[in-house]
Amino acid sequence: MSDLTPAERRQKLIELYHEVKACHACPLSATRTNPVFGMGNADADLMFVGEAPGAEEDRQGLPFVGRAGKLLDELLAGIGMTRKEHAFIANVLKSRPPGNRDPQPDEIESCRPYLERQVQLIEPRVICTLGNFATKLLTGSPTGITRVRGRPQERDVAGVPVVLYPLFHPAAALRTPAVLQQLRDDFSGIPELLEQERAAADLPGLATVGAPEPAAPPQLDLLA
Ligand code: SF4
Repeated sequence: MSDLTPAERRQKLIELYHEVKACHACPLSATRTNPVFGMGNADADLMFVGEAPGAEEDRQGLPFVGRAGKLLDELLAGIGMTRKEHAFIANVLKSRPPGNRDPQPDEIESCRPYLERQVQLIEPRVICTLGNFATKLLTGSPTGITRVRGRPQERDVAGVPVVLYPLFHPAAALRTPAVLQQLRDDFSGIPELLEQERAAADLPGLATVGAPEPAAPPQLDLLA
């Protein structure tokens, strides 16, 4: 565990946001409207990592704000959580690939350090990888999401010991009702997983902790 205070952690995330905003490390900087850094609680024990911004995310500069984002919020509400209070949401790529094409390996490698630094600063206990790209990147395995979804895996991500919990991407769930049901089933396992990880780390359980002070998305603070 780092010895950063919550304020220091948040400040360092804001500094990282400025780096992402100025980033031209891959060609996506030329076609994006806004970089999408991520949003949520900088002290969250739970992180979600998706693939890349879509059209609406690119327009607003915020992650998961389209239909898939609405579903993510609904799934979170179903387990008594909100993205502002209980999670930090980010993507593998911080800039939108044109036409929502798949991320390219060189783009993923260029952007990976930002995600790793987010994990190092936030120090989540559980990371839900959403879909194939995030799952393969963070598990370090080519095994696809269909075979690993809903199965927690202990991993080291950028020097931070975490439990990875691969889930279908909400966008895939919107296309296929059976996938949506599996995503709902897997989501219901998140609170217990968090409780287990908190107990293992000798931290207070969710039920005994007051709702953490929500950290405004760094973008909103900086643009205000
Ligand atoms: S995708 Fe990542 S590496 Fe590429 S320009 Fe955006 S922030 Fe930089």
